[in-house]
Amino acid sequence: MILSGFAGSGKGTIIKELLAKYDDYVLSVSATTRSPREGEVEGVHYFFKTEDEFKKMIADGELLEYANYVGNYYGTPRAYVKEMLAAGKNVILEIETEGALNIKREYPDAVLVFVMPPSVEEIHNRLKHRGTETDEVIEKRMKKAGLEITVVDRYDYLMINDVLEESVEMFNAIVSSQRMAVSRNRDFINDKKKEFEDYLSRNSKKEN
Ligand code: 5GP
Repeated sequence: MILSGFAGSGKGTIIKELLAKYDDYVLSVSATTRSPREGEVEGVHYFFKTEDEFKKMIADGELLEYANYVGNYYGTPRAYVKEMLAAGKNVILEIETEGALNIKREYPDAVLVFVMPPSVEEIHNRLKHRGTETDEVIEKRMKKAGLEITVVDRYDYLMINDVLEESVEMFNAIVSSQRMAVSRNRDFINDKKKEFEDYLSRNSKKEN
């Protein structure tokens, strides 16, 4: 499950609420070369790396995907995602569009959800309000958002994040419906087919 959205779309808050409310979700913690913001904790918000360390992770094949976003590298460590998927968890990757589309190319089963605030003006307001970036960085992120909107067509779902509680439920509804998709339940369906065959052959023997 991949959640992308412009900087300031509120995607981080949606995920925080989702993790607090439901226990079958886990969030993949990314590696980045960006410096920590005030309050960010190593291993919780990100694994903070130097550029050399990050490049070594790429070379060693430790990353499922990576991308450069406004001058810094960001990437998803492969091992944790693999382990959590095997444990039956809904794994959320909160990543930008390039990485998301790369994953979709390699794993067409991945579900891409794009979060948008109700208006462009709102994006700017939220970034400004957050107070963690300089005006210059905010403008770079707004420019990047203008590019990201051009690839939203390739996403599976769009969520307008207006009321937080509603967004959390919308996201959970998307995941629940995905779990019920026939394409994700092939093994179960084949088991039932087999059970029917066994049942019918037992009964036809009785009739004879
Ligand atoms: P921020 O600096 O605001 O924490 O993140 C900047 C952008 O990088 C956001 O759009 C965020 O979703 C994205 N991002 C965070 N981690 C990853 C990652 O592992 N891979 C990719 N491709 N993007 C990421």
